[in-house]
Amino acid sequence: MSKVAVVGAGTMGNGIAHVFAQHGWDAALIDVSEAALAGGLATIRKNLERLEKKGAISHQLAADTLGRIKTSKSLEAATDAEIVVEAVSENPDTKFDIFEDLDRLAPKGAILASNTSSISITEIAKVTKRPERVIGMHFMNPVPLMPLVEIVRGRVTGDEVVAKTVEITQQLGKTPVEVNDAPGFVSNRVLMPMINEAIFCVDEGVATAEAVDQVMKLGMNHPLGPLALADLIGLDVCLAIMKVLQDGLDVQKYRPAPLLEQMVAKGQLGRKSGQGFYAYRD
Ligand code: NAD
Repeated sequence: MSKVAVVGAGTMGNGIAHVFAQHGWDAALIDVSEAALAGGLATIRKNLERLEKKGAISHQLAADTLGRIKTSKSLEAATDAEIVVEAVSENPDTKFDIFEDLDRLAPKGAILASNTSSISITEIAKVTKRPERVIGMHFMNPVPLMPLVEIVRGRVTGDEVVAKTVEITQQLGKTPVEVNDAPGFVSNRVLMPMINEAIFCVDEGVATAEAVDQVMKLGMNHPLGPLALADLIGLDVCLAIMKVLQDGLDVQKYRPAPLLEQMVAKGQLGRKSGQGFYAYRD
């Protein structure tokens, strides 16, 4: 039986554990926060029920999926994993610490993947003694529904590791697309400046959040407006990505909108905090 360890049980981590478990993998879901583990499991349960109601999966598969996920507060739960997917907060130092520990704890042959949205895979790999086995596995939100996984090849990621990660991604029913390591990779290099520009429009009084989203939905055929999408992603995550683009590419062009900085400082993080550009009840 294959086993994955997913570090971080937040927005992305619980979705990643869900998808692996639904495809037959045993999954250890690891977080430092007891509340995050409980919340992550509750989200997985709710999403499985939703998929079952839609007829997308059977009752048996939903039950088996839940049964394959075990939670833990310790990285020791990764000691027998074939692959580890790290999905903790978008903070370089936190990720470096975790990869140092994972390098020590996970089996020598295990792949160490990061779901980072923007932090350099090459830099993360450098803190380990197995940089050739470190790779970016960038899932999209919401993980159970989105087909893409951006596979990010660090400067020294091995061909065999890329091939294996592509194979695992396909086995999860997702479509891998390979890109090279660069700030924001492709997805966020293109997406985040659009979201940031939408926030500038609100900040400068060009239009309300609703109006900006309507323009992009009805005029550009986007399924979700950029501000509703920012709420879904998490405004703290958006801000962290803009800072990586700003530091890595061009200070002026990628300057985060002041309103984005203010909302994050106030704890208005989008859906996960109940308030962002819109208010959320559950
Ligand atoms: P989140 O804030 O929802 O969850 C992060 C989790 O990490 C929290 O539960 C926190 O308790 C946990 N954590 C923090 N430090 C930890 C540690 N040292 N050990 C174990 N757990 C720890 O964040 P998220 O939105 O799920 O983002 C996670 C990663 O995925 C980030 O790198 C982010 O850039 C990336 N990402 C996010 C999205 C998105 O739409 N939110 C999309 C793609 C990728």
